[in-house]
Amino acid sequence: MSDPLATATVRLHEAGIPDPVNEARKLDALATEQGADLADLVARRITFEPFSHIAGRRAFWNHDFFVSSDVLDPRPDTETLVEVALSLPFDTVLDLGTGSGCILCSILAERPSTMGTGTDISTAALQVAQRNADATGVADRALLIESDWFAAVKGQFDLIVSNPPYITEDAYAELHPTVQRFEPRIALTPGGDGLASYRVIAAEGPKYLSPDGYAVVEIGYDQGASVQSMFRTHGWRNVACIPDLNGKDRVIRAKAPQ
Ligand code: GLN
Repeated sequence: MSDPLATATVRLHEAGIPDPVNEARKLDALATEQGADLADLVARRITFEPFSHIAGRRAFWNHDFFVSSDVLDPRPDTETLVEVALSLPFDTVLDLGTGSGCILCSILAERPSTMGTGTDISTAALQVAQRNADATGVADRALLIESDWFAAVKGQFDLIVSNPPYITEDAYAELHPTVQRFEPRIALTPGGDGLASYRVIAAEGPKYLSPDGYAVVEIGYDQGASVQSMFRTHGWRNVACIPDLNGKDRVIRAKAPQ
């Protein structure tokens, strides 16, 4: 008689899933929680379906967020963006390309007197974001709208946040199968040099910001110099680059032009 946990570990290892021992334990706990068969969960995981999709949730900042293949899976790196946003004063926040809503919901939950708008071009993503707004108790302060960047946005905000698609077309082609198969391409790459979303935010952002408002955007580790110079060229003030916990360039913070 073989031990089901050992069998699971071997199958995960043979499929090339990283850290198979820990992965098998997590799937075993999930099988118990869901009343599912461990072997069935392992069968899904060895196709490189993300653990978060099998579990239906991903921990981010202070909450568990519902995730599916309609949204970018929240990444720990993005908590740096949340941290920078929460270091700034604001009553109103705009989250461009909200996806799962993990950034917007985390920020609103931390600041009970604030309200926010989250946009996405994908209606399927907006449904996920709405579900997360409900689950995190911020739905009465979160407006979720379908919009191609600023296209349907009205009014001005004290803070604009965004984790836009920023991977270059070439780097996207090299991504791990987990990412390509189970996450939406439009959440990851705008194509070309990966900088298209920052061009829109740097150029049009000022119209949607209150005087002295800030934009806080996530970037790829090698985009710090180009994104900072883009914001400076458009007259943004106090442009700064903030590293993530691994010491890699991760966030650009900029104050609205005068
Ligand atoms: N950090 C993500 C990755 O490397 C990219 C997220 C994004 O494009 N906004 O997979």
